[in-house]
Amino acid sequence: MKELKYLVRPNVWNMKPYSSARDEFQGEATVFLDANENPYNAPFNRYPDPLQWKVKEQIAKLKGIKQESIFLGNGSDEPIDLLIRAFCEPAVDNVVSIDPSYGMYEVAANVNNVEFRKVKLDSQFDLDIEAVLSAIDEQTKVVFFCSPNNPTGNSLTRARLYQILNTFQGIVVIDEAYIDFSSEPSFLSELEQFPNLVVLQTMSKAWGAAGIRMGMAFASLEIIAILNKIKYPYNVNILTQKQALVMLESKAEMERQLRSILAERSRLQEALPQLSCVRKLYPTDANFILTEVTDANAIYKQLVEQGIIVRNRTNVTMCQGCLRITVGTPVENTALLEALKKM
Ligand SMILES: *Cc1c(COP(=O)(O)O)cnc(C)c1O
Repeated sequence: MKELKYLVRPNVWNMKPYSSARDEFQGEATVFLDANENPYNAPFNRYPDPLQWKVKEQIAKLKGIKQESIFLGNGSDEPIDLLIRAFCEPAVDNVVSIDPSYGMYEVAANVNNVEFRKVKLDSQFDLDIEAVLSAIDEQTKVVFFCSPNNPTGNSLTRARLYQILNTFQGIVVIDEAYIDFSSEPSFLSELEQFPNLVVLQTMSKAWGAAGIRMGMAFASLEIIAILNKIKYPYNVNILTQKQALVMLESKAEMERQLRSILAERSRLQEALPQLSCVRKLYPTDANFILTEVTDANAIYKQLVEQGIIVRNRTNVTMCQGCLRITVGTPVENTALLEALKKM
């Protein structure tokens, strides 16, 4: 990896972060007259902990990593945006990613006026290493990979991700939003090995908390320090921090839900191919199934008419004729299968 100093935008490297009242005084006290807060309406009158240490302590315990290697944001979308802002000079640098994949990498690049280069996956929806490496140049500061990938559902081959980690001199982001549904291990255990690795996870999927907006980035202390430097001072509010803690402390409940979702995924994988409107199922390591149907637009519309919403991906690269179906409750999945039976 290049020295971080030469990867980070010079203005970001040289700037001083905003210093809040909560940053300046840390410790025990009883009278807080330092932040122009209203003294009434506790606990919501107080600004939240800017670095969310209680939540990080719990996540560090669950994942077996250092608290200082964790960045928490307003969904994963926040670290995606911050990574581009920290490393990519607008109209000069570029980011490389895969196609098809999660749409936010491209949106965040566009917002920041950073060129977005997408490299088509191979016929197995896997990384085309040659193509990725030839899309990368001197101005490529960040590459984004998503594994298991959305909307395809498969995990990218681990050896190919190692190849990129070993050869690319910039930042390698691996988005693991769906890792809890996967039979593949996380790349979290590789953080010590690869100083250029950033792993993204989220509470929006397996943890069942998309509504509270809690995204996580894991990386070296140096990369985390840069994200902390440029984030909004109070990027994660009190309600989210409290609820995240409550949910992280009941991991057993998450695991119960996970088992049900995985069992239902298997049931759908057996039942869907038996329907006449289903042409093909792609393998999945996530909580959704990409399926090729006889007429994606017509079937999508007929499902909507029955109050069942799936994601029509027919206009996405390599996904012609495909619907992306999220695994629901047993009752919801049965409703879907019954509706599809008649199509
Ligand atoms: C759903 C999803 C996320 C989650 O984003 P949040 O902002 O944390 O809700 C991240 N990456 C991918 C690929 C996703 O599909």
